[in-house]
Amino acid sequence: MVKNFFLKSDKSPKNIQIKKDIITHFITSGNDTIAELAKELDLSVPTVTKFIAELTDQGLIDEFGKIHTAGGRHPSVYGLKPSSAYFLGVDMTRHHLNIALMDFTGNIVSNEMGINYIYQNTTESFDELCDHIQNFIDKTGDLKQKIVNINLNISGRVNPESGYSYSSFYFSEHPVSETLTNKLNYRVGIDNDTRAMAYGEYMKGVVDGEQNVIFVNVSWGLGIGIIIEGKPYYGKSGFSGEFGHFPTFDNEILCHCGKKGCLETEASGLAIHRMILDRVAKGESTILTEMVENINTLTLTDIIKATNMEDPLCIEIMEEVGYKLGKYIAGLINIFNPDLVVIGGQVADAEGFIMLPIRSAIRKYSLNLVNKDTRVVASKLKNKAGIIGACMIARSRVFTE
Ligand SMILES: [Zn+2]
Repeated sequence: MVKNFFLKSDKSPKNIQIKKDIITHFITSGNDTIAELAKELDLSVPTVTKFIAELTDQGLIDEFGKIHTAGGRHPSVYGLKPSSAYFLGVDMTRHHLNIALMDFTGNIVSNEMGINYIYQNTTESFDELCDHIQNFIDKTGDLKQKIVNINLNISGRVNPESGYSYSSFYFSEHPVSETLTNKLNYRVGIDNDTRAMAYGEYMKGVVDGEQNVIFVNVSWGLGIGIIIEGKPYYGKSGFSGEFGHFPTFDNEILCHCGKKGCLETEASGLAIHRMILDRVAKGESTILTEMVENINTLTLTDIIKATNMEDPLCIEIMEEVGYKLGKYIAGLINIFNPDLVVIGGQVADAEGFIMLPIRSAIRKYSLNLVNKDTRVVASKLKNKAGIIGACMIARSRVFTE
């Protein structure tokens, strides 16, 4: 285990900070020359040269050839050395677990998607999760010695700073991140699943330089991840982004949070699922009744599949939900004036049917001038957004602390 990543040869907090800044620059802007680094970080060329030499000695960065400049000089280009450190991401979804290992430069080197795992708020379920993570670590062979940090995505209220999760695995007086750290013998942090998806999409997905981004996670539940000026927005205790529990409707539908009329009760995968079952019970026809043996075991995956097969009932409900969702996203656009809104989560797999009603409601309900400022797009990473985000957060946490 790499415990003190920067403290191998450094005792001075100032020097450690400069090294973190250099690494962060490589993470956000890619490989660069000493002259450019000095300019960006407001340091002298000799200072940067000294730290680049030390980081190279530490094995964290490498020289990647020379570039040609107009003045005839050929300065060297430096960047992160891929094999110097690894980061592990764990993404818990409703029925599955995804685990991946990422190298220092942000490439996924191995992953296991869709491991069968049903979350329950019990110590047995927690132990099972740890076993899955441990099995994955064991399979990484020699690389396991170079794993610096692990991040676990959890849904609901999560405070990444204290390491407490309040909606899942909330049965111990110790923070869940501390229990994981002790059990796995690696540094482990936690974060909210939607925020991790937003960060994954920001770092590796559809975001193309935009700095203010709202990522809407329409899965079984509904949440948003907020990126402001290139950084995830956490709020005071990490609870930001609970869009699904926005008090919206005067309906009598009880939300799982305990309140009535939350946005999620009519605009989420859960709502789509309930509406389909209601309509089927009333005798409406759909290919779903042929697709699944027992309608009571219907999953969101079945519904997305039927939608993409152009089942009229599924399309109708997607449009209805998309329009409702778009109306409240219009409100978000008015408040945040973002560069980009990304529609992600499992329901975005039916993007051919959900994006149009979302866009049309946004056009109708958002302020004209504000709306023109914002692009609305579907997620590029799809079901990988969470796991890529988990790995990226594991890496960024080491350099931003
Ligand atoms: Zn609620």
